[in-house]
Amino acid sequence: MHLSTRSIHIGNEKDPLTGAVIPPLYLAATFAPPGEFSEAAFDYSRSGNPTRAGLETTLAALEEGVGALAYASGMAAIHGALMLLKSGDHVIAGTDIYGGTYRILHKILSRVGIETSLVPFDDLEAVEAAIRPTTRMIWAENPGNPLLSLVDIEALAEIAHRHDALLAVDNTFATPVATQPLKLGADIVMHSATKFLGGHSDLLGGALVVRDKALLKELYFIQNATGGVMAPLDCYLCARGIKTLEVRFREQCKSALWIAQFLENHPAVKKVFYPGLPSHPQYDIAQKQLRGLYGAVVSFELKADFLATKRFISATRLFQRAVSVGAVESLIEQPASMSHASYDKADRVKAGIDDGLIRLSIGLEHVQDLIEDLQGAFQHTLNHEAVHTPEVNWDLEAGYFS
Ligand code: PLP
Repeated sequence: MHLSTRSIHIGNEKDPLTGAVIPPLYLAATFAPPGEFSEAAFDYSRSGNPTRAGLETTLAALEEGVGALAYASGMAAIHGALMLLKSGDHVIAGTDIYGGTYRILHKILSRVGIETSLVPFDDLEAVEAAIRPTTRMIWAENPGNPLLSLVDIEALAEIAHRHDALLAVDNTFATPVATQPLKLGADIVMHSATKFLGGHSDLLGGALVVRDKALLKELYFIQNATGGVMAPLDCYLCARGIKTLEVRFREQCKSALWIAQFLENHPAVKKVFYPGLPSHPQYDIAQKQLRGLYGAVVSFELKADFLATKRFISATRLFQRAVSVGAVESLIEQPASMSHASYDKADRVKAGIDDGLIRLSIGLEHVQDLIEDLQGAFQHTLNHEAVHTPEVNWDLEAGYFS
């Protein structure tokens, strides 16, 4: 069964009582067994809830794992996975990771004696060199936030397993439409469901999906003991969002590639970070791993000072200045002061997250309107008049490149 069919039919079975084609939303916190001696399938919503169970079934089907767990946020899911570690353990994470992931590794786990090394994952020899006898987990983002760097998941899994460590992949930016890390050897896939899975900026959620039953059991134990579960209404909204994930993501990727090309051709732009451009240093991995869908996040730097960059970010009208990615509305932000503000400055600079970096999340508006919005910002803040754009047929029915 194809992913789009699974996203609609698995975990979304009709209600056997009424025949409703959409399963009901179970807000109940607690459940009474139906008879004196019978057991209820659910007893308390922290331990299990029918709406959450439906979503978890869908998530497992999308990533082709043995099971999934839905959390209150992406960070709660990351926390759940990191709770597999104990004092004295060591984690290797990529340099290009979400600010909140950096923060939990460096400012929370460090308190209980778990150490983290940040390593650029385009250098597998550096990953090998960073391994210690205590290394228990490698944490990667696919692609990285905010610089859209890539990791060769198969190669990283081989290194992790040779050293008896788990490979966890934050697949928020690629989504299972572009990459299924479990099939490439990862042990844990993590999502901020707040982003593409939900897709409408109206819920907070996270997920872990695994391919090993014992690992699932251990993660479930931790989740039930610590309590960071996704609320039923958020599960319901997420399940609804997932039904359109593939069509949304494909359209967003098309527009993002177009916008990345527009920016790369713009005289006021210094550098564009997007895996779909042949100029991306890991374009070969993009070809191998992303199924021709390079994501809907584009980052770039202007040939301008910091103040002009700030003005640019406030000058767009359709792109709203806000953190987050993956929803139907396009967003613009400055990672250094927004999504990645929790980095220590030295680590941020070392990771290459410049003050002048701008991150775009491409939504589902018409791509011509989005490009005109960016053109307006160039004109307004940098005094760039009409800018060269390639001959475009804006008729989306006919395709972007016709
Ligand atoms: N992982 C990535 C790649 C993210 O971009 C984010 C949030 O922006 C998270 C994890 C954390 O997710 P949440 O905000 O749902 O806690």
